[in-house]
Amino acid sequence: MTVHTQIPFLDLTAPHRELQEELLPVFQSALKTAEFVGGPVVEGFEREFAHFCETAYCVGVANGTDALRFALMAAGVEWGDTVLTVPNTFIATTEAISQAGGLPDFVDINDRTCTMDPHKLREYLETRCRLDQASGKLVTQETGRPVTAIIPVHLYGRTADMDPILELAERHDLIVIEDACQAHGAKYFSKKENRWRKAGSMSRAAAFSFYPGKNLGACGEAGAVTTSDESIAQKVRMLRDHGQRQKYCHDVEGYNGRLDAVQAGFLRVKLRYLDRWNQKRRDAADIYQQLLSPLEENVSTPWVSPSCKAVYHLYVIRTKDRDALRTHLAENGVGTGIHYPIPLHLQKAYVNLGYKQGDFPIAEKAAAEVLSLPMYPHLQIEQQEKVAKQVANFFGCHMPVAV
Ligand SMILES: *Cc1c(COP(=O)(O)O)cnc(C)c1O
Repeated sequence: MTVHTQIPFLDLTAPHRELQEELLPVFQSALKTAEFVGGPVVEGFEREFAHFCETAYCVGVANGTDALRFALMAAGVEWGDTVLTVPNTFIATTEAISQAGGLPDFVDINDRTCTMDPHKLREYLETRCRLDQASGKLVTQETGRPVTAIIPVHLYGRTADMDPILELAERHDLIVIEDACQAHGAKYFSKKENRWRKAGSMSRAAAFSFYPGKNLGACGEAGAVTTSDESIAQKVRMLRDHGQRQKYCHDVEGYNGRLDAVQAGFLRVKLRYLDRWNQKRRDAADIYQQLLSPLEENVSTPWVSPSCKAVYHLYVIRTKDRDALRTHLAENGVGTGIHYPIPLHLQKAYVNLGYKQGDFPIAEKAAAEVLSLPMYPHLQIEQQEKVAKQVANFFGCHMPVAV
């Protein structure tokens, strides 16, 4: 029997139906002007997205992976440098490190936030590294290679705990690049600065992806680097365009990593809705929280720190019975996802790093327990009630009280 998915994990058609009247003219105007690469539409989006992120600059690029790679290179990561991130992220984070010439290495996450644990970061920097007398650089005891950068990932739309991460980075003279690919519009309360700060504005530079399923998604591939450092913005502009400052004058070898102008036009339209859509995601998260809280013995709902205003790119519950619950939901027409089932240190692609099961226990536990429920701005309360009812059915509980 094939079961029709009544509640998809992601609904990308509803927002596009809603915005059709505004999106079609973008395409028509691109056909008329034939400005498909670069030009005023790209520049307009860059200005608007920089404003949204509270940064001085935004440089549009082809996708989020390019954004991460260009940000690392522009910030000064060099061949052979070790760059630290977390094991529970999309592989693009570590691909970008390797492609920038670096060596990815990991620190474990905090069990509640699922983002980088600043205590583990400190432990790495202060017990597994030493200061190299000759170069004056922090190097790992194991490889002798310099550690030069950290990529905290704002996973699921929650910000990483930036205050202590930035403090450690400052103390050890390390570059911080935010992976903000899941966190468009998320905020973090910096106690140090006594103010809320936008994801993408807290470090040397940040990477955003506008892959269609992200909170701000293009109608195709797109990405951006945000920064308030003019020299980094300048370098990313060169890297995305074959290393040229002027046409056919190549200061360095670069890449073909530009933002498509039609996508920039679509993104300008959607950016105007992003705050509203993020609020709808938060509202939907509150409703799930109410519906699922009676099941707290069996499932835990996401914990968000009071210093984070999350944008719920994903709504991730945790349960020991994850795989069976997922099957039950699929059989009853509820689409789900797992972000991510195999932590990066256990991926075949990274056997060369020499890690084994047990090396990052918190990330491994999360990988075994996390389940992403349907979450998008157009999700209806009735759909959420059906999802919660099926979760309750699985655990043999009564239907939770409707909100
Ligand atoms: C989506 C994503 C990326 C990569 O973005 P692309 O646009 O697909 O290249 C990187 N990091 C994280 C955490 C992501 O979710």
